[in-house]
Amino acid sequence: MAEQDYFSEGELVSVLTTQPIDRPLDYKACEGGCHLGAFVEVPLGPRKVIGVIWGKGRGGFDLSKARAVTRVLDVAPMRPEMRDFLVKCAAYTLTPLTQMLRLATRAPGLSNPPSMQKILRKGAAEPDRMTDARRRVLAVFEEYGGLSFTPRELAEHAGVTPSVIKGLVKQNVVLEEDTPRDLPFPRLEPDYGRKELTEAQEAAAGQLCDKVKAGAYASTLLWGITGSGKTEVYLEAVAETLRRGRQALVLLPEIALSAEFMRRVEARFGAKAAEWHSGVTMTERRRTWKMVGEGAADLVVGARSALFLPFRDLGLIVVDEEHDTSYKQEDGVLYNARDMSVLRASLCSAQVVLASATPSLESWTNAQSGKYSLVELGSRYGEAVLPELKTIDMRQVKLPSNRWISPELESAVKARVTRGEQSLLFLNRRGYAPVTLCRKCGEQIGCDHCDARMVEHRFQKRLVCHQCGESKPIPEVCPSCGAEDTLAVVGPGVERLAEEAAERFEGARIAVLSSDLFGSARALKAQITSIAEGAADIIIGTQLVAKGHNFPLLTLVGIIDADLSLQGSDMRAAERTFQQMRQVSGRAGRAEKRGVAMLQTYQPDHPVLRAIMSGKERAFWHAEADERRATGMPPFGRLAGVIISAPEPKDAFDLGEHLARNTGPLEAVGAQVFGPAPAPIARVRDRHRVRLLIKAPKDAPLQSAIRQWLKGLKLPNQLRLSIDVDPQNFY
Ligand code: ADP
Ligand code: ZN
Repeated sequence: MAEQDYFSEGELVSVLTTQPIDRPLDYKACEGGCHLGAFVEVPLGPRKVIGVIWGKGRGGFDLSKARAVTRVLDVAPMRPEMRDFLVKCAAYTLTPLTQMLRLATRAPGLSNPPSMQKILRKGAAEPDRMTDARRRVLAVFEEYGGLSFTPRELAEHAGVTPSVIKGLVKQNVVLEEDTPRDLPFPRLEPDYGRKELTEAQEAAAGQLCDKVKAGAYASTLLWGITGSGKTEVYLEAVAETLRRGRQALVLLPEIALSAEFMRRVEARFGAKAAEWHSGVTMTERRRTWKMVGEGAADLVVGARSALFLPFRDLGLIVVDEEHDTSYKQEDGVLYNARDMSVLRASLCSAQVVLASATPSLESWTNAQSGKYSLVELGSRYGEAVLPELKTIDMRQVKLPSNRWISPELESAVKARVTRGEQSLLFLNRRGYAPVTLCRKCGEQIGCDHCDARMVEHRFQKRLVCHQCGESKPIPEVCPSCGAEDTLAVVGPGVERLAEEAAERFEGARIAVLSSDLFGSARALKAQITSIAEGAADIIIGTQLVAKGHNFPLLTLVGIIDADLSLQGSDMRAAERTFQQMRQVSGRAGRAEKRGVAMLQTYQPDHPVLRAIMSGKERAFWHAEADERRATGMPPFGRLAGVIISAPEPKDAFDLGEHLARNTGPLEAVGAQVFGPAPAPIARVRDRHRVRLLIKAPKDAPLQSAIRQWLKGLKLPNQLRLSIDVDPQNFY
């Protein structure tokens, strides 16, 4: 029997709200009735909250007590496949459904009536007298062929003050009108700025477009080195999706920083795509959310949370740089946007294209086994070739203890500065120095709330904890023994490296790119753009620069510490290092000039570095896969992490031990439990953390076993438990 999809006034409906209640609540449908999936406002206690009509009410109580839905909101109802997606996503990540709905309604003012804004258009009157400023305003209208502008846009385009525009409004030269704020996005033209593709690109694009035409779910790994033209290829799949009248979503890891990508999309399709990330204004967020639901936004370019937008007819999801760890949300709902993209696509007959130069082992394995199709792009587009790779054996280099740039790298940078080319010095460590210690008593200054060392940030003149964000002034005396002038910093961060570079490369223009040095994403974005245009000779950067920005003048990449990410016990250390080194060195020489990448290392014979140097990627992936297969680790087995935290370590341990003793439901599916053990960072924000790790065979119904295992568990006050299905990190 089909699900009832309309409820007339007074009928009992169940409403899922975003409030932390574990189930939908019953209400009476309001005047005019409610459709299944409608977004509504309902009373809850003294408040009004947002919810979605989830189905028929359950009843079983005195109906005269049921409260009524206040009103239906002026937004498109939630599609059935979206409800399905939220339910499956909740089940997969073991998250309450109400929390999933909160992810899917992250737009401000959804319940507001559509607000109005002032826009300006050209009127018929002539100004009483002409000035330069006025002429510029009229020229803007001329140039844009009768478009309308907000007052701010017009002032910016014309380069005039608001008073000039006000003067023109008074004389009816410019007309002021009120229009609804949430305007549809302009249509994108699939054939607008189509580039001539190379033969290889054409073949790859053809494969993707055929899948789009078929209109059924399929997933593809688009694998090609940096600069091979993957973006150009997947934009063809976007174009084909638009031709079919369906919507497309492109996910990017650092989209808030990428003005370049948005410009590229505009050049390709003749109009701006919708953007969704933390750097977008509230008004624009709401507009995007609503227009996506009405089918009035063809393409969204966004960060991982864009996956939860209410698309009317989503036909394609591209996950660019699919290996990037930022696709995993590490707080709140612990989900991996890459994996959930595949789920979402499968529920709405869409394509998913995972693009990378260095795929995750998961995706690589899926492509090997035929679960995903594989589309490969071999060489770089045009002249550009992969950079020449070199290791610098730091064991042979004698550097003073406060220096990190080897002579070989130094002279390579100098040569670039002379030739007017750019160099990148890569060090994945924010701040000035990772350790501050007392030379007298040996104390290393730590955070008061976490088991972590404080990192000196010299620009801010503070010590900062990278775990909890707490900071304090740099102390004058040792906080432990009270000695004066004994504190010394150990090791480099990007700020300290910049100091060294300033000494060594006198007169060169040096720019530091690190997320904490900029007040806003906008400021950082502006800086990246100006650097790309040549405003710096030497770029010093953290992993920010590894992600997709194009620096056409860059011909040298120096990796200061290639060993850094190899440390640690994480099973993904090798994979991550491989990806990061490949990505960073891929920044060099994208235009006509061949680049050079120099990797400073104390372990030039490490298998990962050897794999990078030899260029035998497949050999590397096979070796990694064999090792994981042999040990039953992902993607050949499954993991879930359990973190218990409490103000008192004993409470966390007691619960951990209790859980570790009662593992019946887990054993029943062949899962093993390890722990409890203190988490690698055993205290964060004054909470002690204890970890259990569940390991299960690949096909085990892990989530339902965990649900059984925790069923009926009453968490004592102050204790928190979170479950991380498919954990990426183990801290
Ligand atoms: P990837 O996404 O694999 O890193 P891109 O698609 O960004 O590669 O391409 C690298 C560079 O080459 C970009 O500057 C892009 O504009 C250019 N490019 C790629 N393909 C073409 C093409 N068919 N015609 C013109 N320029 C292209
Ligand atoms: Zn801290």
